[in-house]
Amino acid sequence: MENRKIKVAFFDFASCEGCQLQVLNLENELLDILKHIEIVEFREAMSEKSDDYLIAFIEGSITKPSDIDRIKKIRKNAKVVVALGACATHGCVNSMKNTFDIEDVKRTTYGEGAKYFEDNNAKPFETYKQAMPISSVIKVDYYIRGCPINTDEFLMVLKALLSGKKPDIEDSPVCLECQIKGNICLYDKGEICLGPVIRGGCGAWCPSNNFPCTGCRGFVDMPNIERMKEIIRKKGLNPDEVDKKLQLFNSWDLTEDKLILKENKNG
Ligand code: SF4
Ligand code: SF4
Ligand code: SF4
Repeated sequence: MENRKIKVAFFDFASCEGCQLQVLNLENELLDILKHIEIVEFREAMSEKSDDYLIAFIEGSITKPSDIDRIKKIRKNAKVVVALGACATHGCVNSMKNTFDIEDVKRTTYGEGAKYFEDNNAKPFETYKQAMPISSVIKVDYYIRGCPINTDEFLMVLKALLSGKKPDIEDSPVCLECQIKGNICLYDKGEICLGPVIRGGCGAWCPSNNFPCTGCRGFVDMPNIERMKEIIRKKGLNPDEVDKKLQLFNSWDLTEDKLILKENKNG
């Protein structure tokens, strides 16, 4: 009997493309994966393009007006949209710019002498004031978190989708996995770790290797930052460090007056 392959496409917006690279790094699994799916678009790996796909994996943040039509078209074409990696799920390092004055951001990035500051006829600088997760513009069905993504989690989600099941994505804090592993809490070693408010699923990778969690998987639902700060204070550490640390990966969630460009729930 003919094995009908599911058509899958990969897309990228503002990102370092490291999450797509993680998929390409699945050298031991790729041949097996390709028995079940047909990849019809994946700019990092092939030049073909197609509008005919069932599942779209989208990496990267929305940062400029021309992203909008493109991502809405992807949503329209795909039955299932999966946000791939922290840039897509919650803005990641791109959203650090949201906390700065946009003119300072432009000047710092392109320099004082950049053409668009001198020539009124030049194409206007094409960027939004904020970098946004893709859910600000379209409906997202599933989220694969992390900077970069965890390949085991990618495979779990892909397998679930191919078998018509809902992927079982972790939603408890990093601390849970950390404690299950029997790690000594880094607070007791004088380090500030964001584990209590950050979504697990990475196997508490950083604290298990003696590094504090810096929050790459984004917040748990209803993070209690004040409670975390209280614990940090009780441990004799400086809770003010928390806000600085959260800026690295989680500036979007801390952005006031978030830009939301979604017209309706189906994007
Ligand atoms: S989540 Fe991290 S690794 Fe993935 S594209 Fe964004 S910056 Fe790169
Ligand atoms: S080291 Fe971090 S993740 Fe582990 S228990 Fe302590 S605060 Fe939580
Ligand atoms: S421990 Fe924190 S920073 Fe490290 S991989 Fe997990 S979520 Fe990301």
